[in-house]
Amino acid sequence: ARKAALAASSGPGATSDGHKVPLLANVGGPADVPAAVEAGAEGVGLFRTEFLFLDDSKQAPSEEKQVESYRKVLEAFPEGRVVVRVLDAGADKPLDFLTPADEPNPALGVRGLRSLLDHPEVLRTQLTALAKAVEGLPVYLEVMAPMVADRTDAKAFADACRQAGLRAKFGAMVEIPSAALRARSILQEVEFLSLGTNDLAQYTFAADRQVGAVSRLQDPWQPALLDLVALSAEAAKAEGKSCGVCGEAAADPLLACVLTGLGVTSLSMGAASIPYVRATLAKYTLAQCERAAAAARATDTADEARLAAQAVLSGE
Ligand code: PEP
Ligand code: MG
Repeated sequence: ARKAALAASSGPGATSDGHKVPLLANVGGPADVPAAVEAGAEGVGLFRTEFLFLDDSKQAPSEEKQVESYRKVLEAFPEGRVVVRVLDAGADKPLDFLTPADEPNPALGVRGLRSLLDHPEVLRTQLTALAKAVEGLPVYLEVMAPMVADRTDAKAFADACRQAGLRAKFGAMVEIPSAALRARSILQEVEFLSLGTNDLAQYTFAADRQVGAVSRLQDPWQPALLDLVALSAEAAKAEGKSCGVCGEAAADPLLACVLTGLGVTSLSMGAASIPYVRATLAKYTLAQCERAAAAARATDTADEARLAAQAVLSGE
């Protein structure tokens, strides 16, 4: 029965009453594109460009090499959306030429957008390569920055995009609690938000994502994390802008329903999860998702939140 449900699962993501939630794929480069297309992804919600930089930790790949790689991904989704994240180096993704070697707490140090603002030439090359890669393609390109902490960061990124002549939507990832708390202020500078729930959990609970001993606190069902998702989604709605999720949370079919109920406008995940999320979302109305979200937020632990959402959606 599960197989049949999945086979029947195709087309755009939506609740049973037709509320659309685009289902997008997380990719690391052209090699991940076939699986995304096969799964029926409506585009890419997170293109992790750091994979392109891992071949050579001494220097950034040339502009030509970047154009080639970006274009292959952009070409695969005509009329679709592709959200490219600029380089997220540092902490769990160190790069010799960008990441300081002597930081006592790399996750709290110079990483993500912070590294790029310290090395504007690396950001400029990446944005110029993207501008060239998208030329003449019918795709909707969106570009976002990792680790945006506040409006100053968001403005610096948007300015860099404009200076590179990039014709795309510019967005900010919400991975730091300050960004969720002041999402409306960040949205004065950028056109969309994308929640990186892996890092958002890490920074909300002061629990290193690479330390198994604190994995309980990395659970994306934590009600405090759901609260920050809700704040971000409400801010985006108030500003008439979109707020997606591209962290692991989006790949959990039940949580995907809860995130939808919290007001998230798109979900991006590893391609393999898309059919499951699509099939589950299609079983419930938006109102049911909203009730499940409210029930989950009314609890005090991740396990209780999961059970509360399950109870609402199974009609108990
Ligand atoms: C996240 O932090 O949730 C995210 C999507 O980015 P990454 O896992 O690449 O840090
Ligand atoms: Mg992240």
